[in-house]
Amino acid sequence: MLTGGILVGSAGTILTVLMCKAMNRSLLNVIVGVFGGGGASNVQAGGTVREITLSDAAVLLSYSKKVVIVPGYGLAVAQAQHICHELDKVLEEKGVEVKYAIHPVAGRMPGHMNVLLAEADVPYEQLIESDVINPDLPNTDVVVVIGANDVVNPAAEDDPSSPIYGMPIVKVRDAKNIIVMKRGMGKGYAAIENMLFYNDKTRMLFGDAKSTLQNLVNEVKSL
Ligand code: NDP
Repeated sequence: MLTGGILVGSAGTILTVLMCKAMNRSLLNVIVGVFGGGGASNVQAGGTVREITLSDAAVLLSYSKKVVIVPGYGLAVAQAQHICHELDKVLEEKGVEVKYAIHPVAGRMPGHMNVLLAEADVPYEQLIESDVINPDLPNTDVVVVIGANDVVNPAAEDDPSSPIYGMPIVKVRDAKNIIVMKRGMGKGYAAIENMLFYNDKTRMLFGDAKSTLQNLVNEVKSL
């Protein structure tokens, strides 16, 4: 029991240290910080939010060469990993290269997205760590953000007053087109605004991730 306890404790400590590193925050800051409770930030919501229809999204994706999917907490909540893999398969059948950008703290535990996508049998080679895939995003035709928010929030780079400032992010705004799937304009874990949603290149596809993906797969198949 002692050995088991030591192993479990060590694994927990390693995961915690990995999580702190991925958030670029100290352990003390994670324990006593306001992160997750609605920290202060200078960023105010503003600009125009543009939507995209399912059929336009299906056309944009089907005629792309490179697509990168960024999964987040919302994908896990919706249990949309299987239908997400279905989307990547139908796109690949059409000759589109599809990769996943995996942020180390997307979701609610380190490696959450790896576990989720492995459960859906997404091949491991398609899962690329965010800092490895970031340099390739300017050559990516469409990034599809599915239920991710903080891990794609440019405030981490732009706003020194933001609680997530300094956290490495998936640099989604570098891509040529951005589709964001979420239910509404709800905030993420850090409870702050996300100016990505007002970016000129961004189109919102509102709805629960699972049903939206199901409808999108049907649209892509019908093309
Ligand atoms: P976030 O928590 O930042 O955002 C998730 C988004 O998903 C929300 O904005 C929500 O928007 C959307 N959403 C919720 N339910 C659904 C649904 N059914 N369908 C579609 N969208 C949905 O997620 P990220 O993965 O981007 O970031 C993780 C956050 O958790 C980071 O801040 C990270 O630091 C923190 N964290 C991570 C840990 C880890 O080890 N992985 C541990 C502790 C904290 P809407 O309501 O509009 O749908």
